[in-house]
Amino acid sequence: MKNLPRVLIVEDEPAIAELIAVNLRHGGFDPAVAYDSVMAQRELDAVLPDVILLDWMLPGQSGLALARHWRKQARTKSIPILMLTARGDESDKVAGLDAGADDYITKPFSIQELLARIRAVLRRRAPESVSDSVTVGALVLDAATHRISHQNRELKLGPTEFKLLHYLMKHAERVHSRSTLLDKVWGDHVFIEERTVDVHVKRLREALGAAGAMVETVRGSGYRLTGLKVRTPVAAAPSGT
Ligand code: CA
Repeated sequence: MKNLPRVLIVEDEPAIAELIAVNLRHGGFDPAVAYDSVMAQRELDAVLPDVILLDWMLPGQSGLALARHWRKQARTKSIPILMLTARGDESDKVAGLDAGADDYITKPFSIQELLARIRAVLRRRAPESVSDSVTVGALVLDAATHRISHQNRELKLGPTEFKLLHYLMKHAERVHSRSTLLDKVWGDHVFIEERTVDVHVKRLREALGAAGAMVETVRGSGYRLTGLKVRTPVAAAPSGT
């Protein structure tokens, strides 16, 4: 079950939610159902899905407001959202996409169409996360070729260190807690001690050599990758505060 794509269905009508869940299960997905925004948030806090199916008309917070909210949160911003709605207007469609939805499906829809749309958003998201290249200071990571270089010298990293560095570089200058790094780098289904993060950060620094100092420990908070000190070595002196 673990390897099936997880789909969070946010739909307040139990009959529709159940119908979708049953069909998704048959279609090779691992569905979870939330009937309102509170349940949905609780579900997202526990396990991140691969896709969210989000009903527009929900009691309390609308699907549109939820989509906007999730897009702003670091933890949920890259999860594809497929909006379900009874509204077919062009302006509503635009509003949904503006709020951060990846696609839009109008009720009533066929299950075949729904499955096809889910597969399509999953496909569209996948290459984006593996084919990009990131640069921080003199450090360059190319995810497509799995190459890392610092000042044009190639570096060799283990697979976990590579993923860790990729995440830190994509979110440079920000502090990440150990639990966030576990979620983002190791994945939500894995239960590993937070100490593991420290071990891999240490290995990462060693593998980075001169660039190892770019990975900073932020006491009591976690880790941060910074390109700022490298560019202006004078400012790297301890401030004494
Ligand atoms: Ca509804």
